Amino acid sequence: MARQPFNEDDSIKVLLWCGRHCCLCEKLAGVGIELAHLPGKESSSDIDDAIPLCFDCHAAIGHYNKSHPKGKCYGIKELKARRDQVYDKYTSHLVPPIHYELAQRGRKLPDVGFQIHNLGDRYAVRARVKIDLAWGTSRQLVASDHYNGKHLWNLNAQQGISGHFETPAEILGGNERLRARVDVTVVDIYKREHQLLPIGYIHTLGPNDEWYAEPSMVELGIERS
Ligand SMILES: [Zn+2]
Repeated sequence: MARQPFNEDDSIKVLLWCGRHCCLCEKLAGVGIELAHLPGKESSSDIDDAIPLCFDCHAAIGHYNKSHPKGKCYGIKELKARRDQVYDKYTSHLVPPIHYELAQRGRKLPDVGFQIHNLGDRYAVRARVKIDLAWGTSRQLVASDHYNGKHLWNLNAQQGISGHFETPAEILGGNERLRARVDVTVVDIYKREHQLLPIGYIHTLGPNDEWYAEPSMVELGIERS
């Protein structure tokens, strides 16, 4: 199958993410860097199938004789993990501390409050927020574009945003506890996505109408692969 080139914008992005370091040996390759396809993905132009490599490492992943194996060849999973490790190394300084939480602060169900802050003093970021709600055995993604992971929230340094969303009406009728899972992905200035660990919450009805953090998603029954 024909070898597909990667588009220019994507190519620039990944070269920024690795700082032109080879994603296998981590040598600073400078102009000697090549945008290789992962083995078997030569017909793909998806940037997730690309790996920036120096000439030597490009040759090493391409020349492996399966009928006379010596040593252990690089598998796709290992190559991707290694590549992502290098991307993270050269972009993690662009990710400021982010604080986010579900908090009512005077709001009452079905209205739910959400706050997110960029606590850093240097870099602007954008964030994708995804909130799943569950009650009993039912679960659903919050319908609003701001909370279903499609929207990017702009967060300048030291800036916070308070938002809110409505829970579906059928939740309020039952006496099942409302649970929530919040997933936040931070997008740095070079457009690399950094997924934060999810935080789970349990809502307590009563005079306080408040959310409590629950560390285990398994307890909440809101796993997402
Ligand atoms: Zn290399």
